[in-house]
Amino acid sequence: MTGSIHADFSPLLAVRGGEPAVKLRQPSWPCPTDSEIEAVRQAMIQGKTDWAYLCAAGKGGPGQALEERFQRELGVPFAVGTCGAGAALHIACMCVLEMGDEAITSPYSWGQTAACILQAGGVPIFADIDPNTLTLDPASVEARVTPRTRAIVAVHMAGVPADMDAINAVAARHGLTVIEDCAQAQGSLYKGRPVGTFGNFGCFSLGSGKHLAAGDAGMLVTSDRTLFEKALLVGMHPARMGKDIEDPQRRAEIDNFIYTYRINTLSAAWALAEMDRLAEMNTWRRRNLAQLFELLAGVPGIRPPHLPDWADPVWHMVNWTFVAEEVPGISRAQYVKALRAEGVPISTGYVGSPLHLRPTMRQKRYHFGRGYPWAADPASHFIEYAPGDCPVAERRCSELDMTTQTGWCYCDVSAIMKEFAAAFRKVTDHLDQVRGLEV
Ligand SMILES: *Cc1c(COP(=O)(O)O)cnc(C)c1O
Repeated sequence: MTGSIHADFSPLLAVRGGEPAVKLRQPSWPCPTDSEIEAVRQAMIQGKTDWAYLCAAGKGGPGQALEERFQRELGVPFAVGTCGAGAALHIACMCVLEMGDEAITSPYSWGQTAACILQAGGVPIFADIDPNTLTLDPASVEARVTPRTRAIVAVHMAGVPADMDAINAVAARHGLTVIEDCAQAQGSLYKGRPVGTFGNFGCFSLGSGKHLAAGDAGMLVTSDRTLFEKALLVGMHPARMGKDIEDPQRRAEIDNFIYTYRINTLSAAWALAEMDRLAEMNTWRRRNLAQLFELLAGVPGIRPPHLPDWADPVWHMVNWTFVAEEVPGISRAQYVKALRAEGVPISTGYVGSPLHLRPTMRQKRYHFGRGYPWAADPASHFIEYAPGDCPVAERRCSELDMTTQTGWCYCDVSAIMKEFAAAFRKVTDHLDQVRGLEV
């Protein structure tokens, strides 16, 4: 009899056919406000009689206004609006890499952090990550420096800043350029200062899932006039080059052998209006995630990121750690499956497979297997990408990572966080129902 009472009152997990614990819906993201929609409308109206206004040649339209806003907020003298962070990263690499040069980057990222090196004819070399921040481990970076190394591409993964002082110190010792991939980290602070201002270049994304979502757009920032002028030569319209390039030798190079990497001015108008609420949205992102971390303290099987004091991230996603010992007999995939069924947005690892172990890298098949860039220089023929190169990153991907996307956390979602915590408790109180789940 007690058995049947137990069955009646013990909640059935959603993955076994019960009611999901999470009832509230997450806000959609991106979510343009009326004033942002109006800003785009006004830009188009202006463009009816002022052709240059909507062309990103740098003649006073929304593209230039957005660049100036980035300069002001980051305290940097130069900004170049681009069509995405990927374009900004490629431009940066084009400015510093020559064919066959090596650039050191993280295997724990979105592929474009490494693709920008390949696109510029460089050879990506992967350093391992720090087990807490999941960003480049400066000691591992230094161990991989060779006479052919020219640059470090550091990513502020998930919004967590990389250890920029230590990375810059490695760069200074070996004469390297530092490129920051800030696509997931707009507003994140390292030692109180915004990321993107530590390296020689900062690359931001205004893509639709990012902190400042504005369709597809990006921004390249630098404090170095030479790098700024080179960047214009790579990817901007000659009219823009003519306006902003001062160096006589570089002025002589102005031509239209370019990539069309300029920013879409309507995206710029949207982003410019959206910047008025970025600080507020970032405050909510910080606050909401801090609340969730607190609510999940002590829940078996999961740990929030454990960060050094100097890291003040604006979360783009959270990469949780799965703690197998605390949930015996349950795999990471089963744990995630049970939570997803309850309505918790969690998956097994955003990165999935570390970049150095993807087929493109292992088989050196970039550009449809033409052998480029490795074939371009005999010294690159011997570079291999293999398991064991970056053990910390590899273990994160194969055993530990669980990811929650947080783009929707830009407003007060406290009630949703409480439902998530209830879902976690429901699942971890009934692990018997999770055991044996098919995944
Ligand atoms: C999104 C992203 C990019 C690319 O940004 P786009 O604006 O889409 O070109 C590059 N790096 C990282 C880490 C990203 O998350």
